[in-house]
Amino acid sequence: MSPPRESERIAKCNLSITKSYRRLRNTGNTCFLNVTIQCLGAIDEVSQVHFLTKKSTTQDRLWDCVKELQEPGTAYMPTPLIQRIPDLIRHKAGDPADAHKLLIALINDVSEPISQLFQGQMTSTIKCSSCDSTTSRTNITQDISLHIEEDASSSLEERLNDFFQQETLEGAIAYWCDTCQKPCRATKTLLYTRTPTILIVHLKRLILGKKIQQHIPFDITLNLEPYITLGNPPIQDMKLIGIISHQGTKDNGHYTAMTKK
Ligand SMILES: [Zn+2]
Repeated sequence: MSPPRESERIAKCNLSITKSYRRLRNTGNTCFLNVTIQCLGAIDEVSQVHFLTKKSTTQDRLWDCVKELQEPGTAYMPTPLIQRIPDLIRHKAGDPADAHKLLIALINDVSEPISQLFQGQMTSTIKCSSCDSTTSRTNITQDISLHIEEDASSSLEERLNDFFQQETLEGAIAYWCDTCQKPCRATKTLLYTRTPTILIVHLKRLILGKKIQQHIPFDITLNLEPYITLGNPPIQDMKLIGIISHQGTKDNGHYTAMTKK
């Protein structure tokens, strides 16, 4: 395996800003929408889907944008989609537009089959260290949000590994065991019971009133095999489709996207 920095260089070579497709016009602080459309449009399962509705839903208008981008021509203005989702586009002064929030809101505003692409299922299991009893809770996921620390050079893979690390519940956060009827030391494990077709990884750069600019090395493939429950069939590595990045500070800046096509 290549070292992370080398991997990122390769990733940059393999991912290029779309040259043969139409670009999107910024209609005034809408770069966060444009990069979201660009990345969604780079997903084959999104760009190849066909709808037969009356062009009035968010999904239809999003799909129209994706189709327009595949045609030659001057920069496209995604006005029909903007008119459909005014509440998602509007943002208060001092509250910078957030492409990740918009992406999740858009996914929640579209229907199957697109919404299903991003859905995974994770199960959290707590095991009491005193009586070995276990309790499990299963949740639907749409993304993974990873913490970033300043002055740390961990790669994306290492952050992901930390996210799925077994946690010990003890002391102030001890687990109340219904069997033992007292707070007990316990272990908490988080695993995928179903991985999504398309995984969104969000790096939490805006935190505690500041933006963490720390570089996070990454590879163009991601192995989720260590994070799925036992008994699940083997899964293929995830391949990088696109990156949305923000240049600037916590208060202002500009979003750009790189996609595989
Ligand atoms: Zn117990």
